[in-house]
Amino acid sequence: MKTVGILALQGDFDAHRKAVERAGGLAVEVRSAKELDACDGLIVPGGESTTMLKLLDIENLTEPLRQFAARKPVFGTCAGAILLARSVTNPAQPSLNLIDIDVERNAYGRQIDSRVTRVKADGHEMEAVFIRAPKILRVGEGGKVLATCNGDPVWVEQGRHMVTTFHPELTPDSRVHCAFLAKL
Ligand code: GLN
Repeated sequence: MKTVGILALQGDFDAHRKAVERAGGLAVEVRSAKELDACDGLIVPGGESTTMLKLLDIENLTEPLRQFAARKPVFGTCAGAILLARSVTNPAQPSLNLIDIDVERNAYGRQIDSRVTRVKADGHEMEAVFIRAPKILRVGEGGKVLATCNGDPVWVEQGRHMVTTFHPELTPDSRVHCAFLAKL
């Protein structure tokens, strides 16, 4: 069975652990480079991207994560997608540039910043939870849009990596986690 690491510095890593298990994978929490090394893929969960960036630095995990991503799949949800993006605005902050997308943080405004809605994924619809979600403003040439919501890309993959701006770990539908497991 493939081992999926869940970056467990901050955010909703426990919900991802359960979602990976529902999808048939083995989930382990990752808080060090050594733990990361033992994984076949990594999920960077939702939470607060600025805080997660700082914690990656404090735990000396930024460089190990880059090296891991050069060989193995990484999946970022919401704040995790912000960390994986090429560039980030509103406000601007550094990111890991693992996937060629540009994102705007907290892009949906205060009134509708968190909602449960349906997204279109490859001919079918899926329930999706958005919580102070970023908007994907640009997808680079190598990127593939796997789901959209009102025309905006909300699930994108590029090579071995993928991101969602919604939280697939919070709905019973395992399709997104299964798609990640299939990359390992
Ligand atoms: N708004 C958060 C950020 O900008 C992301 C929210 C989330 O991960 N649910 O980091």
